[in-house]
Amino acid sequence: MTTEPLGRANAWAWRAAFPSWFAISSARRSAYLGSMKQDASPPNLDTLLAEIRACRLCLEAPLTRPLPHEPRPVVQAAGSARLCICGQAPGTRVHATGLPFNDPSGDRLRDWLELDRETFYDESRVAIIPMGFCFPGHDAKGGDLPPRRECAATWHDRLFQALPGIELVLAIGQYAQAYHLGAARRRTLTETVADWRTIMSADRHPRVLPLPHPSWRNNTWLRRNAWFEAELLPVLREEVALLVE
Ligand code: SF4
Repeated sequence: MTTEPLGRANAWAWRAAFPSWFAISSARRSAYLGSMKQDASPPNLDTLLAEIRACRLCLEAPLTRPLPHEPRPVVQAAGSARLCICGQAPGTRVHATGLPFNDPSGDRLRDWLELDRETFYDESRVAIIPMGFCFPGHDAKGGDLPPRRECAATWHDRLFQALPGIELVLAIGQYAQAYHLGAARRRTLTETVADWRTIMSADRHPRVLPLPHPSWRNNTWLRRNAWFEAELLPVLREEVALLVE
């Protein structure tokens, strides 16, 4: 069983899955991060979280159009957490409150996990690490933009390196699945989630369980894929109960 930190183990496969989305100038990133202490030793979690929460990369050295608002990184993690929820990026309500999954999608996710809000927001038991820490803004049709690519390229490998106690990653949506599964991701999100048993039992640390986004936009998907509630959710709830006890 590999013990390589998850983010680093999958980084190259992830680059292959999303080449243009991942591409970032290391020189640009280094210039922005120059004031922060960078060395080869394992990152200190508290220091790293403080750096993330102070990050303004997408405003001050963006790859493309600057973030249209002040950055407000939303992340929850502690060294003792064994379960990690990895979604896409905050929406407007999460951006306004600074609390991850503080919206109807979060209510459905907590129902899937059978977790109350107190446990869900207990960072000592549950880490919440989206692929983009800040609300990325809206596209022309009013939908949420994809997570900022600067974010995972800058922070995620080191953050997961600082969290060796994570045993199970819930990879919600295509961006989290691309990062956490790399080449093991199937052709479509439905195929990836449908093959959850194979993916979760694969020889990797931490284990990864792919999930669809709990948004109301996926109501039709949930109706068409009744096996998700009938077969996957009972196993998910058992796993989660063991990891947060
Ligand atoms: S999205 Fe990520 S990289 Fe961009 S400003 Fe927020 S924390 Fe920094």
